[in-house]
Amino acid sequence: MEKYAKVIVDISVDSVDRLFSYILPIEAVVGQRVLVPFGNRKVEGFILEISTEKPEGDFELKTVIKVLEDYAALDETQISLAYWMKTAYHCTMAQVLRQMIPAQLRGMRVKEKKVRTIYLNPEFDKTSINALKQSKKKDIIQLLADSTINVAVADIVELVPNAYAPINALVKDGIVIEKFETVYRKPNQIAPQCVEKPVLTAEQETALERIAQIIDEGKQKTVLLHGITGSGKTEVYMQAIEYVLSKKRGAIVLVPEISLTPQTVARFVGRFGDSVAVLHSRLSAGERFDEWRRIRLNQVSVVVGARSAVFAPISDLGIIVIDEEHEDSYSSENPPRYNASEVAQRRCSYANAPLILGSATPKLTSYYYAKSGKYELLELNNRVNLMPLPQVSIVDMRKEFVLGNTSIFSGLLTERLRECIDAGEQAILFVNRRGYSSFVMCRACGEVIMCPDCDVSLTYHKQDNSLKCHYCGIEQRIPKTCPKCSKPYLKYMGIGTQQVQEEFISLFPNTKYLRMDADSTRGKDSHADILGAFASKQAQVLIGTQMIAKGLDFPNVTLVGIVLADCMLNIPDYRNTERAFSLITQVAGRAGRAEKVGSVVIQTNTPENNIIKLAVQHDYKNFYEAAIHERANSLYPPFSLFVRILFTGDEQEILFAESQAFADACYATLCETLLANSADCSEILFMYAMPAPIKRIKEKYRQQVLIKLARTKHTSKLIKAIYAYSDTCDMKHLYSIEINPNDMM
Ligand code: ADP
Ligand code: ZN
Repeated sequence: MEKYAKVIVDISVDSVDRLFSYILPIEAVVGQRVLVPFGNRKVEGFILEISTEKPEGDFELKTVIKVLEDYAALDETQISLAYWMKTAYHCTMAQVLRQMIPAQLRGMRVKEKKVRTIYLNPEFDKTSINALKQSKKKDIIQLLADSTINVAVADIVELVPNAYAPINALVKDGIVIEKFETVYRKPNQIAPQCVEKPVLTAEQETALERIAQIIDEGKQKTVLLHGITGSGKTEVYMQAIEYVLSKKRGAIVLVPEISLTPQTVARFVGRFGDSVAVLHSRLSAGERFDEWRRIRLNQVSVVVGARSAVFAPISDLGIIVIDEEHEDSYSSENPPRYNASEVAQRRCSYANAPLILGSATPKLTSYYYAKSGKYELLELNNRVNLMPLPQVSIVDMRKEFVLGNTSIFSGLLTERLRECIDAGEQAILFVNRRGYSSFVMCRACGEVIMCPDCDVSLTYHKQDNSLKCHYCGIEQRIPKTCPKCSKPYLKYMGIGTQQVQEEFISLFPNTKYLRMDADSTRGKDSHADILGAFASKQAQVLIGTQMIAKGLDFPNVTLVGIVLADCMLNIPDYRNTERAFSLITQVAGRAGRAEKVGSVVIQTNTPENNIIKLAVQHDYKNFYEAAIHERANSLYPPFSLFVRILFTGDEQEILFAESQAFADACYATLCETLLANSADCSEILFMYAMPAPIKRIKEKYRQQVLIKLARTKHTSKLIKAIYAYSDTCDMKHLYSIEINPNDMM
């Protein structure tokens, strides 16, 4: 009986984003990749359906040319997930399916690695070996006779020099048989950290039991595991995963970024050994492909990785854990603009498995859902072993200035640094976000020197005495006088890592330090190198940006200084307060993790700021109450939903007109949708065209339509209507549609 395949071709263009039918003359299964004729070329595609019924219609069916791999690249649940993502994130099927396979598999840019191995023909009489005359051939035969497995030719050559010719001769004579075996390129594994499985605390036990119960119930449930740093969340994840493995099911663990969380990953590797695959960005193409294949072919049951590991082809999934769930890195900024937590929820619902979101400082929306019953809330309120929190001091930098200290370092921070260094311990100095740090401002008129193309302030780089734009990279010299008022009072403000470094050197000329920021970590390995050097105590002080605030656990660090907390608080974005709270909490939780009690010094010009105070006390609950109240008052998420439609182009007037036209017509469409559902237009809380906060990037103007929708049963219909309208409206400069974007720049 003839078979037919329905195929998605691997071309991400709307017009071909549908199933194409082909005759399938070969053995193949759903999910397998194939080569098919398309127009007058050959393209790769995915089989999504197979049937024996001839497709209707009077077109000439073409024939599948061949399968690309001998196994299915996708399984059935991934295909369901892809259909869901296509609708939810409004992208093409090809775009989604590409996320689910290693990039290099497309176009067959990586291949399985085959190794030539040999073994002794079983019919060869081993007792005859002794009688052979001494030769390379005899050595090789002896080697093979002693081995119970096939031996790689490369290994034999190591032992028997110039063995190629005799091996070839033995193969030719039929004494030795050769076989090409697939090998898996093993990535240079993160060294496992083996921690003996501890007896759980009562709180951990309660949390674990509840998770186990959910696993047994076999229902999808999202659990928010809220617990301060060091409360033992990771241990709970690991034991929950052990339980899942005991049921012969698999697990996925997402971490914000592998290179920033080496300790966490090392613990998973230590606990689960060979059954873990780690997917990280520093894998070579071949290693990535092989790790993926080990997962696909069920050779591992636990996957640890960053955002895209949510697509890892673990079969019979039993749990997904998202550690540090509040991190921005879980949302993709490029199409498909997915959110890993949403995708994970969907996967878990197919698999009837729990999704565990863990954080010391959950997103306000997550905690809101946990309190309102949409998620389940589990809390760990104490640090394991009741390890004391570090002692935190807040220093008012205005007073320091008035008292004549113009240094970046307050008297207290200097003193603590000296004590720490003298005691042979380590310190971390945390500097605010790089992009917002040191701008040049005129003291006389307040003018800030801006990028001519990007509408952001230029950042001062002391090293080459230049100004750089962190968006487009443009570079210029510092003018002698203010471009606006021509007075010579240009002064750079804010604090960057380089400036901290310099003052540090002048205070502590003989102390070894390391600097870690986007400038110092350009190379492939430099992240890990810097952290490794610090961990092995090659330096006593680490100076860095928010990069160093995550997941680091250095036992010898006893002092953390936040050089200027204010810079984190002055970013124009509604999620800024929760980000600042989370950063300060994390930094303040850094020291004091080991036996030694640490201390934290926070320098600020606004010590009265409530966020700093609550973060210092690790008081998430009171922070939550205050912040969620604010969100409710101003109708920000979770009380509404933001849609941002971005237009970019060369001419400001055209963009302005286009976005305006979009806003008007789209508003009318949304109103119609609401009226048709017996609702009224008041569910559209806000809808305006306006310039984006950064009006220009890389010489392109940016204009946005911002929509704020009430959360009702109509919301998803409205989102669909926005997408549908955007498909038909033919606006040439429409660049992206984002739902609750991470940042609104
Ligand atoms: P979190 O993930 O919440 O920051 P961790 O799981 O990393 O917390 O735990 C902090 C430290 O305490 C780790 O060094 C961990 O090995 C240890 N730990 C966790 N649970 C226990 C326990 N029940 N008994 C003893 N030590 C524990
Ligand atoms: Zn610029």
